[in-house]
Amino acid sequence: MAVRPNPKKTLMPEQEPHERIKNFSEVALGYTEEQALIESRRCLQCPTHPCVSGCPVGIDIPGFIREVKEGRFDEAARILKLYNNLPAVCGRVCPQEVQCEEKCVVGKIPGSEPVAIGRLERFVADWEATNVKDPRIEIAPSKGGKIAVVGSGPAGLTAAADLAKKGYSVDVFETLHKPGGVLVYGIPEFRLPKAIVEREVKYIESLSVKIHLNTPVGKSISVDELLQEYDAIFLGIGAGTPKFMKIEGTNLNGVYSANEFLTRVNLMKAYLFPSYDTPVKKGSQVVVIGGGNVAMDAARSALRLGAKQVKVIYRRTEQEMPARREEYLHAVEEGIQFMWLTQPIKYIGDERGRVLGAECISMELGEPDESGRRKPIPIEDSRFIVEADMIIEAIGTDANRFLLSEFKGLSLNKYGYIIADSETGATTLKKVFAGGDIVTGAATVIEAMGAGKRAAYWIDKFLCGEYNPW
Ligand code: FAD
Ligand code: SF4
Ligand code: SF4
Repeated sequence: MAVRPNPKKTLMPEQEPHERIKNFSEVALGYTEEQALIESRRCLQCPTHPCVSGCPVGIDIPGFIREVKEGRFDEAARILKLYNNLPAVCGRVCPQEVQCEEKCVVGKIPGSEPVAIGRLERFVADWEATNVKDPRIEIAPSKGGKIAVVGSGPAGLTAAADLAKKGYSVDVFETLHKPGGVLVYGIPEFRLPKAIVEREVKYIESLSVKIHLNTPVGKSISVDELLQEYDAIFLGIGAGTPKFMKIEGTNLNGVYSANEFLTRVNLMKAYLFPSYDTPVKKGSQVVVIGGGNVAMDAARSALRLGAKQVKVIYRRTEQEMPARREEYLHAVEEGIQFMWLTQPIKYIGDERGRVLGAECISMELGEPDESGRRKPIPIEDSRFIVEADMIIEAIGTDANRFLLSEFKGLSLNKYGYIIADSETGATTLKKVFAGGDIVTGAATVIEAMGAGKRAAYWIDKFLCGEYNPW
């Protein structure tokens, strides 16, 4: 008789909430070898492996889990890297619950949870980093073409690594002083340690990818130079321009965009001030506006900086909030408070221009809007004040139109994002491809990586004369 797998995922150890709110160290601690072996046995090795169709980079999931089950962790790592250049990152921040794990047949058995694919991926990547000095690298013989990648976020890094593996010479241009895009300037240390990002970027550099930091394309190097010098260009510049509430009081001292707040904390290490020379305001009563991952990261960072109270204000309810469930539950465990169906309409300040709070209005939900979520509608005469000495707006981001306007002939949609073929990444401008947030708007790490991977495939076809949409 077939033995039914354990219905629940093997738990991953975590720092206790009362401890972790006092530090920026990683919350989730990863599987031990024994835990990974136990979890790997839950995989049924389905011949149709539906989980793979849920992974935007198409990892051979049963293949790598089979190797874990046999204790061949190095072989599991080799399989992972055939598909994924950033496995330790994805194992930590991928929204697995709506990707590979959502399709896992074990999760379809009533009362059962899917195989913890992301946790196993993280285990294998971390095991390799600790135990293998010189991981095997498979690179094709040189093909001679030169490719420029603009932006070193997950889309750009993936495109660069795949193209290097295919035998091309690749230059990555990055505005910031560190590579990684949102992985270094947005997602906090306690969810994604920067040493992990550095480790995976080092692997990509070991493929002979050259990363030019502090090099904004459009300023340090012109678009014309790029077009003349390279055989193909991949644009992975993200969508990092913050949106603002645009209400009265936005300019008061103590009102931040999540983008600025998180960049100061993560990239500039303001939580280690004065050892690092970037300061950041440490609020006592902090209000965060928004309901996505960015809002959760801002709220949890503010708490770790010493806030006595952190409230997240969201205009819809828990059901509609876009944040990953795991991040929301971690925030709740840590004592973050949530005010649902609430919308700020103006910020209030003192005579010296310092923020004192937000005047808010209660909302109710109406019919679904174009996003499919029920539209929040203000309730008359329901105004009230929420006190705060710091307010962080986390209500989304937009494309940066400055660089894009330099690429003459590049078509943008009405929101300012690049129009690109959804399969190949080809834009309307000859030899220019694009992918990631700058095409889709704010999305996820693995979707950006999927776009980078597909574009690398089609750039290779273009340079081999097998594809030309122009
Ligand atoms: P980015 O990561 O934005 O990288 C673009 C890079 O291009 C940047 O480094 C930028 O400096 C550079 N650049 C821009 N213009 C130029 C120029 N002119 N010249 C040179 N370089 C340039 N997704 C998840 O899957 N899970 C999560 O848990 C998650 N949490 C998030 C938390 C936060 C706070 C944020 C902001 C986002 C989060 N996301 C998460 C979303 C995810 O990080 C993005 O979807 C992903 O990083 C997009 O990748 P990208 O490569 O398209 O762009
Ligand atoms: Fe799942 Fe993300 Fe890993 Fe793909 S990369 S298998 S979607 S966790
Ligand atoms: Fe294993 Fe689930 Fe994929 Fe089946 S669907 S191969 S059980 S991970």
